[in-house]
Amino acid sequence: MHEDSLEHALIQRYFSDCGARRSDVCLGVGDDGAIVRMPAGKDLVTVVDTLVAGVHFDPRAPAGTVGHKALAVNLSDLAAMGAEPAWATLALSLPEIDEVWVAGFARGLDALANAHDVALVGGDTTRGPLTVTIQVQALLPQGQGLMRSGARPGDRLYVTGTPGDAALGLAIEQGESGVPDVHRDYLLQRLRQPEPRLAAGQRLLGLASAAIDISDGLLTDLGHLCRASRVGARLDVDALPRSPALDSVVDADRARSLALGGGDDYELLVALPEAREVDALAALAGLDCHFTRIGCLVEAPGVLCLDASGETVSVAAGGYRHFGGEAE
Ligand code: ADP
Ligand code: MG
Repeated sequence: MHEDSLEHALIQRYFSDCGARRSDVCLGVGDDGAIVRMPAGKDLVTVVDTLVAGVHFDPRAPAGTVGHKALAVNLSDLAAMGAEPAWATLALSLPEIDEVWVAGFARGLDALANAHDVALVGGDTTRGPLTVTIQVQALLPQGQGLMRSGARPGDRLYVTGTPGDAALGLAIEQGESGVPDVHRDYLLQRLRQPEPRLAAGQRLLGLASAAIDISDGLLTDLGHLCRASRVGARLDVDALPRSPALDSVVDADRARSLALGGGDDYELLVALPEAREVDALAALAGLDCHFTRIGCLVEAPGVLCLDASGETVSVAAGGYRHFGGEAE
């Protein structure tokens, strides 16, 4: 078969009916462009993220986990906006037509897209180094949206889930051995198949003053939130929630360092005004996701890390960056 028709057949087979069927998709995969119908009273949010094989994922990882993660990283950004995802496009660059890989990839993508009612409405397929770019469009009530910039001194700082797991998953993927199977599977899953915190983000809309998702590491992303909001933070490092896997595989020092500095968590960091704290906790009750207070925001710039006894913890050494003073 001619290359073009091979690619066309591949698209038809795996991507023409991928993800949710939504009644607001007027024209999906197959034409020159997709047409969707915007509901009244909503604003459109757009995000895009690229995963490059060997840089953002291990090319030996199961294809389904790549499909999952490529969508999940976008949904995580949308979760941090409090948005409701709707339509996705996929630009796929493949070194060769490996139908088994594409089938697995599409299954992983399809499952997560269905779970969050996202329709795949178009894309592009090219020959080149294995690279996946997904763009997702989402809806927000007009004029609303969680941003990085709304936090105020006095707000409480919360985090979803158990940061640090993905970083340990990465160490395992890169060869760290001696981890019991049950923990190994969990930690690799946290790295490869993060669960975007969409429900939490949407329920915090109108309650949280600021939010960001943790992709580069808790300290780094907290630094981003602080700079955008022109505030500083006091982080209670002993309050950081740790998974049973992290706790049993590494010692407390390394757990702390992974939770603060490791990337790829795709958890949410949230600033909550004190007056909204009770409502926010009630709004998140019943979600299958930890929501833990880990500090507060202050006027003085920079991130101060404190242990349970109130002593300053130095975080300058080791693999993570220190956001002291006006750095960056
Ligand atoms: P064109 O050359 O006109 O851009 P393509 O052959 O690239 O056409 O795409 C044909 C149709 O298939 C378009 O509707 C496009 O959105 C869709 N498509 C191509 N690749 C993908 C993909 N990887 N995922 C989803 N849809 C795709
Ligand atoms: Mg065209």
